[in-house]
Amino acid sequence: MKKWVYLFDEVAKAEKYTGSWEDVRALLGGKGAGLFDMTRAGVPVPPGFTITTEACNEFRKTGKFPAGLWDQALAAMKTVEKQTGKKFGKAKNPLLVSCRSGAKFSMPGMMNTILNIGLNDEVVEGISRLTNNPRFAWDSYRRLIEMFGETVFNVDDEAFEEPMADYKEKMGYKVDTDMTAEDWKELTSIFKEVFKKHVGFDFPQDVYKQLELAIKAVFESWNGRRAVAYRNKEGISHDLGTAVNIVTMVFGNMGEDSGTGVAFTRDPSTGEKKMMGDYLLNAQGEDVVAGIRNADPIEKLESQMPKAYKQFMDITSKLEKHYKDMQDVEFTIERGKLWMLQTRSGKRTAKSAVKVAVDMANEGLITKEQAVLRVTPDNVDALLHPQFDEEAMRNAENSGTFFARGVNASPGAAVGQVYFDADTAEKMAKEEKQDTIMVRPFTKPDDVHGMIASKGVLTSEGGATSHAAVVARQFGIPCVVGASAIKINLEKRVMMVGEAVVKEGEWISVDGTTGKVFLGKMPTTSPSLEEQTELLTLLNWADEICARKDVREAPAKGWPTRGLQVWANADYPKDAQRARSYGAVGIGLCRTEHMFFEPERLPIVQDMILSEMSEGRTAALNKLLPYQRKDFDGLFEAMDGYPVIIRLIDPPLHEFMPDEEKLLEEVITLRVKGESDGLKEKEELLSAIKGMHESNPMMGLRGVRLSISMPEIVEMQVRAIFEAAADCTLRGIIVKPEVMIPLTGTVKELEWIQPRLERIAAAVMDEKQVQFEYKFGTMIEITRAAVTAAEVAGHAQFFSFGTNDLTQMTYGYSRDDAERNFLITYQEQGILETNPFQTIDRGGVGKLMDWAITEGRKTRPNLEVGICGEHGGDPSSIEWCHIIGNNYVSCSPFRVPIARLAAAHSALKHRPQKKTNKANGRASKTKQKTAKQK
Ligand code: ADP
Ligand code: MG
Ligand code: MG
Repeated sequence: MKKWVYLFDEVAKAEKYTGSWEDVRALLGGKGAGLFDMTRAGVPVPPGFTITTEACNEFRKTGKFPAGLWDQALAAMKTVEKQTGKKFGKAKNPLLVSCRSGAKFSMPGMMNTILNIGLNDEVVEGISRLTNNPRFAWDSYRRLIEMFGETVFNVDDEAFEEPMADYKEKMGYKVDTDMTAEDWKELTSIFKEVFKKHVGFDFPQDVYKQLELAIKAVFESWNGRRAVAYRNKEGISHDLGTAVNIVTMVFGNMGEDSGTGVAFTRDPSTGEKKMMGDYLLNAQGEDVVAGIRNADPIEKLESQMPKAYKQFMDITSKLEKHYKDMQDVEFTIERGKLWMLQTRSGKRTAKSAVKVAVDMANEGLITKEQAVLRVTPDNVDALLHPQFDEEAMRNAENSGTFFARGVNASPGAAVGQVYFDADTAEKMAKEEKQDTIMVRPFTKPDDVHGMIASKGVLTSEGGATSHAAVVARQFGIPCVVGASAIKINLEKRVMMVGEAVVKEGEWISVDGTTGKVFLGKMPTTSPSLEEQTELLTLLNWADEICARKDVREAPAKGWPTRGLQVWANADYPKDAQRARSYGAVGIGLCRTEHMFFEPERLPIVQDMILSEMSEGRTAALNKLLPYQRKDFDGLFEAMDGYPVIIRLIDPPLHEFMPDEEKLLEEVITLRVKGESDGLKEKEELLSAIKGMHESNPMMGLRGVRLSISMPEIVEMQVRAIFEAAADCTLRGIIVKPEVMIPLTGTVKELEWIQPRLERIAAAVMDEKQVQFEYKFGTMIEITRAAVTAAEVAGHAQFFSFGTNDLTQMTYGYSRDDAERNFLITYQEQGILETNPFQTIDRGGVGKLMDWAITEGRKTRPNLEVGICGEHGGDPSSIEWCHIIGNNYVSCSPFRVPIARLAAAHSALKHRPQKKTNKANGRASKTKQKTAKQK
């Protein structure tokens, strides 16, 4: 018979069955594994057992408990009765349990948990006598009926909350603590009626029936709406299933010597090395998280219960060292005795993720590699996201647009329109494409879809460990909680602070970094990288990893064995400077056509285009030359010592000409008015533009094709590049120009154009009497060029994948049309897994790239290969570039830090197998030795 049930002290059996701790976590769930691990370490955990995820998956298939499960659960209950000396369902010394969900990956608040199982009309009297605390007994019983109704039978929580509010009002009570034992008893009867009315039968008095229904409800909550939404968002597989943990109840609501709390071993918002938590005296379970009463900070416990506090600090510090990560723990103190109920690695903000990783590496708790792997590219992205402009914030505070202040629960700047419930916030964001801010008194698990869809979240109640705060931090949504000055009127759909009123749909600005909320839209700025010292340290570690000469296996001579370098796409010197300050070590793409659009240059460009004769073109181009030279000069200077790839003119010429329709209108107006001034010139211009018309310009006369029919332009460009490079060299700047020919489809094109350009390069160097390194190469963006890469590499000294065009050409999609018309449907229907314009399609476009590199290096072993399409900033595409042997990726300057981290992740993930095993073996042996020596 299969083992479906494991007692908390049976961790060895689970390990034997699964073979690894990772698989124990899959079998018992993260919460379960934590409880087993703590039990083994001697941490006080209430006795209990776990029903496996395998059982859940069987149940989900058949709708029934698999054979043997219930008997094993009953046997485990008997053991727990022995361990605790209590009896389930017996009034004399009753055992109560909780039934808690827990999947492999923690999904806080996404699935069900039911507390106080085992209470019925008799047991409640027993507990009451035993504890001499009838108030506590009846409070617990009414909680069970309520939770049972809500979670097992999906009764709306309002069905219970309303009669409770009515009761309190009738009695003139303000808070729950005003309720006496008699009141809770009275409310228990009311709740029983509510239960019967909504469920159709009486609340079950059979405690085993309670247990059975609760287990089934937890199994079923795996497929609850909010759990499914959460897994979709987090990319967690829907097949894993949840385990069920049955845990002996311990009570934080037994009086003033009891309490319950949650804590993080480091600050989940800033990463500071300081315990951060909240607790409540005389309270149970979710009371702290729900933010129903205002909790006390954990430090206060030291004076209230010094012994329990010290034990708590010792245990949590041990847990952090054991798991080598920041822990998020739940605890309960029952009459002075501390019980640990959960430990897991804590969800944290991007800022905290970076600080904790760097600190722990510096403390020697983890390696630099582990630290680098702990931070995600998304974390880095979040840290470089816009923040509110400080001066604008100061001004706002003086000018009266300051609205309220709360707890800074999740950092970042959010500007959006206010909506007072999750459904509306989601609807407005998705259907109306609005930026929304979801505002609620507090949030519950059912609100998560609205939070995810919103730019920011604001609540008037709750603290830094409240549901809203935890969820917002996890998803990187800016969030302010507990802004208690705000009065929210959900019926009238407004919120107010004094005179200031915000109606639904109006704009506010929420600053999750400072906790401040402003009326209207506040301007934002991008944060500086230089000030984020921990992030800089981490990125330097990432670069060190990529620079190692043995992180990649070279299939043949000439392939890089170090990791990827990160270059940037930059057209102007100021972009190049930013790219450098963000850590780029080259320019992978400088587009020269922007340079033609400047107001004083465009007329010259148009003259040039309209000249019928080569001489006329050359004359115009000679006027452009000094401008271009200056552009390149600035770029080389900014990138002193680093390679700069300059792409020769790429777009079709009509892009530089006036708009045809507008010109036609002007001509018609002149004709109608009978004016002749300028009419003739306009008519000529119009017919010239008409003559240039192409029905599919993106596949028409552009790129190298244009250069071949009008070589004067690129000849001028190459002259400008080399003159600038020569001038810079003479000034002592190290230049490495690389000239890139776009849109090559056949090597014959290169054969035609490249020697002409190389002659100019040589001529300039001769004229100026200087020598410097340079390369001529091509973009690989047309399928045929990729397929015939071996030939192309005969001329090109480098390849740069233009993956935007390569994807368009390979799929035969025009990007703009596809994204507008059918890409979403294709993704929804599962025809495309991801948008191939965002993430490289490894199976098609990616294969072409792989082929092109392999073939290209057959001809030219030291062929330099990069990517300059937008994919160069996408982590999964970067990983692909690492795998197939790119030398570098090039992306927008803003994404350079993200790419540096992603490059290091790729290097660590794909370390050559054999070598690492050896290296690991060595490392662990020496470690063992030093451990012994100690
Ligand atoms: P979640 O996964 O949503 O955190 P939990 O299963 O951890 O749900 O339980 C919800 C709350 O109930 C937590 O505050 C937890 O500490 C508390 N709780 C769970 N089991 C017990 C128990 N046996 N005794 C006391 N409190 C419990
Ligand atoms: Mg929990
Ligand atoms: Mg292109």
